[in-house]
Amino acid sequence: MTTATALPTTTLTKRGPESDISDIADKVFDNIRISPDEILRLFHHPNLADLAMLADVVRQRLVPGHDVTYIVSRNINYTNICWVRCSFCNFYRTPGSNAPDSYVLTRDEIHQKLTELSALGGVEMLMQGGLNPKLKLEWYEELLSWMRDEFPHIIRHCFSPAELIYIAKISKLSMHEMLTRLKAAGLQSIPGGGAEILTDRVRNFISPYKDTADEWLNCMETAHAVGIYSTATMMYGSIDTFEDRVEHLVRLRNLQDISMNNSPAHFRAFAAWNYQPDGTELGGLRASGFDYLRTIAISRIALDNFPHMQASWVTQGPKIGQISLGYGVDDFGQTMMEENVVSAAGCTFAVPISEMERLITDAGYTPARRNTRYERV
Ligand code: SF4
Repeated sequence: MTTATALPTTTLTKRGPESDISDIADKVFDNIRISPDEILRLFHHPNLADLAMLADVVRQRLVPGHDVTYIVSRNINYTNICWVRCSFCNFYRTPGSNAPDSYVLTRDEIHQKLTELSALGGVEMLMQGGLNPKLKLEWYEELLSWMRDEFPHIIRHCFSPAELIYIAKISKLSMHEMLTRLKAAGLQSIPGGGAEILTDRVRNFISPYKDTADEWLNCMETAHAVGIYSTATMMYGSIDTFEDRVEHLVRLRNLQDISMNNSPAHFRAFAAWNYQPDGTELGGLRASGFDYLRTIAISRIALDNFPHMQASWVTQGPKIGQISLGYGVDDFGQTMMEENVVSAAGCTFAVPISEMERLITDAGYTPARRNTRYERV
């Protein structure tokens, strides 16, 4: 693969003054951070190939070479009981509804899932669930320390900010104190779920009872200060505008600067996925593959301080995931054994390890297995 740094900016599409991004390209080539206005201009740029080329410049700067990593991991949704009722979610069952399919996984069920994961060479559990009023901090502490004792070789990548904010609230503890206790109990990394779009205009509409953008960011900043690494996400394509997506990216970039300068931990990676409208209260249309590739490429260019960019083949399908490797993505994400929030909204993709490696190889890259810390395993 040819690195884009060798290409002159005159190769960029120019269909009119508004689509000339040569000045932005020059900044990307010179490793100069682009401004929020320039990120917005990229969203209006009509040529995907230009965005791919620029994203690959940043990718090659941060992750040189042709390796594409992936992780053998398992999602464990420990409870679907949740009072928040986000309009884009059809995974939850409300507390007290006595819905026959509401659940909290037992220790035996979690043990079985982790045993299966271990047998397949898994190195990470991604554990998330609803905001269940019956589960207090002590329940999470006992669960983490039990999993650490039973499966010490599987990294505990657990609990999104929405859950953590709620646990702190019902425990009447500061975020710092609560995260310090969970870290002592065995929490090693935090997934970036629930970020949706980090503007309160969008959040107030699609998930009015959930945490605010400031609360989500404060949780991650505190986690980094406590020494817990995390990832970040963006769920786009509901009611968000390009301006909302720009604000989301800039707020993540600003926090990453703060964490990298002041804290022992930071965001390891970013992933974007599109809202899945099927069967949800919010409804609407599904974002296109074009929009996904544009969004992930621009994310790679804008988030110049994020070490890694993950593909989202669960929502986009393996073929778009494969194409995204040319749009700044250096990681194919996890082998999905379970993903209830997404699959409940109509997604059925599941790619075996051999197929994942074939897709990466077929796209001209070398598959490499990693752990949560992006160390090769
Ligand atoms: S997205 Fe999460 S917080 Fe919102 S209703 Fe679903 S489970 Fe609850």
